[in-house]
Amino acid sequence: MGQYAHMLAPLDLGHVTLKNRVLMGSMHTNLEETGDWNRVAEFYAARARGGVGLMVTGGMAPNREGGVFPGAAGLFSDQDIANHRIITERVHQAHGRIVMQILHAGRYAFGPECVSASAIKSPISPFPPKALDEAGIEKQIADIVTAATRAREAGYDGVEVMGSEGYFLNQFLVRHVNKREDRWGGSFENRMRLPVEVVRRVREAVGPEFIIIYRISLIDLVPDGSTWDEVVTLAKAVEAAGATLLNTGIGWHEARVPTIATSVPRAAFAWLTARLRPEVSIPVIACNRINHPDVAEGILASGQADMVSLARPFLADPAFVNKTAAGRTDEIAPCIACNQACLDHTFQGKISSCLVNPRAGYETELEITPTAQPKQIAVVGAGPAGCSAAITAATRGHSVTLFDAADQIGGQLCMARRIPGKEEFVGLTDWFATMLDKSGVTLRLSTRATSETLATFDEVVIATGVTPRDPQIPTEGGLVVSYIDILTGRVTAGPRVAIVGAGGIGFDVAEFLAVNDSPTLDLEEWKREWGVGDPLDTAGGLAEPAPEPPARQVTLLQRKPERPGRRLGKTTGWIHRAALKAKQVKMVGGVNYEKITDEGLHISFGEARENPTLIEVDTVVLCSGQLSERSLADAMIAAGREVHIIGGADVAGELDAKRAIDQGTRLGARL
Ligand code: FAD
Ligand code: NAP
Ligand code: SF4
Repeated sequence: MGQYAHMLAPLDLGHVTLKNRVLMGSMHTNLEETGDWNRVAEFYAARARGGVGLMVTGGMAPNREGGVFPGAAGLFSDQDIANHRIITERVHQAHGRIVMQILHAGRYAFGPECVSASAIKSPISPFPPKALDEAGIEKQIADIVTAATRAREAGYDGVEVMGSEGYFLNQFLVRHVNKREDRWGGSFENRMRLPVEVVRRVREAVGPEFIIIYRISLIDLVPDGSTWDEVVTLAKAVEAAGATLLNTGIGWHEARVPTIATSVPRAAFAWLTARLRPEVSIPVIACNRINHPDVAEGILASGQADMVSLARPFLADPAFVNKTAAGRTDEIAPCIACNQACLDHTFQGKISSCLVNPRAGYETELEITPTAQPKQIAVVGAGPAGCSAAITAATRGHSVTLFDAADQIGGQLCMARRIPGKEEFVGLTDWFATMLDKSGVTLRLSTRATSETLATFDEVVIATGVTPRDPQIPTEGGLVVSYIDILTGRVTAGPRVAIVGAGGIGFDVAEFLAVNDSPTLDLEEWKREWGVGDPLDTAGGLAEPAPEPPARQVTLLQRKPERPGRRLGKTTGWIHRAALKAKQVKMVGGVNYEKITDEGLHISFGEARENPTLIEVDTVVLCSGQLSERSLADAMIAAGREVHIIGGADVAGELDAKRAIDQGTRLGARL
């Protein structure tokens, strides 16, 4: 415990003591909407068993107009209360504590009934809100209070009142949305009346022995947001109104600054929590990009906060706290902040899970149990698919040998981790290495497996990944290289580069070539790049972005006549596009590749191959997709062997580490 003494120290809240300083922040998982309450309860109970001090549920709507989307879950009926009691009982049996978040989305509610301070549409919603009148405001307050009393009836230890991220209460706080001239608008005293009144009346209704967390926005990152003075004034007023804890929020959802993506530096906003903490006497919670016990301990030990909130890391590993307490931090499955299986799923109406941990949200379905029939299993390929299959099978008691032709594990992830802003992938390959070792997998690196090598095994898993597709562009001269040449450092690109193919890898290669030093590793540079200022200087904390000049002149091309990057991750694609734009990368769609010569890349446009153009460059990098590497699988099948094929070797199209790990884990669980 010594090394993580601050993180593991209890926190006395008066009527209750939390066992440590770690909060699992609210995440909307879409699990409640399945109606399978055993599944929802097991999701939270697994995290409670994993030792977290306090959990916050996904946002529950206080009424229909405030739901994030039509049909969003809330405590509307006695049946809802009974369902939620299944969660709270299971969590309490596991000695955990859980509060329910009350989330009124205001103008972010995705429906025509949405309401707000003024009738000003959000740029991320098609629905203009209705400006509430006095009676309408009273109704919203009453509904939030009712949600809190129902949460208490359902057995929750408290509620979190969502006041940040640009939701309903946040909308009343700022002139950006609140143009009212009555007692709910104008002066800050009037603009903060709603959140303060909500906290006061919730406290009145639930009594003293109930946790009330108020989630306060520290930096709105929208024009005309809150000033620092207003943040402090609100924090003090919310404390006086009866809040137990102040959780923090960073940036509105419509902000054009990334706040939780993997390219955001770790603990990037803890400096604001540190500034708020001395202003109030209730505990303050730091959040955003805290994904490792060292980061959490650093924040707490330096006095930047009283507690830390980690959300996605509890999808990646429910046992984050217990493993820390047991000195096994290297076994914590790392959240790489990719959003690929969590937030991207939420926004697609799918169940949130985790790229690194496919069991997240599937605890009752994907069980990893000891095998009754231990076998000799060979896994070929130590990319994410092969590593996941090997670790899962070995954990169950099989004897597993993992082969890779390379001298290190990780497969393509070894290239991904070299991209500026994707440093978290280092943690993922390190974790695979630790778990291969601890689960007892025999690792045979620098060994290309053949049918002969594999002859004696009971089961053979082929996870040989992919090879780059050759786009067959007529070529004279020596300008052409593959992304592998560039990302493994075999070739250094010249000062002017054309990239053929604008998929995930094309974008990453553009970032690699246009950026000198990764801003993710330098907080002040990152803030300059994205225009993160200080709410002491500007309302909302925005500054003029001042990116470093590009390292190279890069042109990124694709044949599809659409905006490059349109198919990237739902919640992260805009970040990749904006990052390349800041580096003056030219993105061109709708091209035909005519030929490559020593002068550069010759292209034309459209079906009629019009407007022939020479892009003068020193290097052309091919990022034109992948084909399955199946030579070994095909040879074994031809020789009459049965094999299991997973990851890129199975299907190369739309392959990513999420599918590779999911497939590997599921296979390992049933072998
Ligand atoms: P691979 O990772 O290709 O691994 C296959 C392994 O098999 C290799 O190590 C190879 O050496 C080995 N092998 C092949 N044949 C043999 C043999 N006969 N004997 C022994 N070993 C053999 N995905 C995401 O989800 N998110 C991202 O942000 C992301 N970013 C990326 C960035 C870059 C630059 C790249 C290149 C990829 C990125 N990916 C990302 C894609 C992801 O890395 C791949 O989808 C994933 O690695 C595929 O996993 P796999 O296990 O099927 O194959
Ligand atoms: P990809 O996303 O499928 O993109 C391939 C690119 O090559 C496309 O731009 C495609 O565009 C082009 N292309 C395809 N066939 C071509 C041909 N014959 N000639 C010329 N161009 C051709 O594949 P990828 O970029 O190789 O990425 C591989 C996988 O890794 C992807 O599935 C991706 O999800 C994953 N990945 C994910 C991330 C992430 O951040 N989530 C990052 C990197 C990689 P046109 O057909 O329009 O030319
Ligand atoms: Fe973290 Fe990615 Fe898992 Fe989401 S999907 S919890 S961001 S690792």
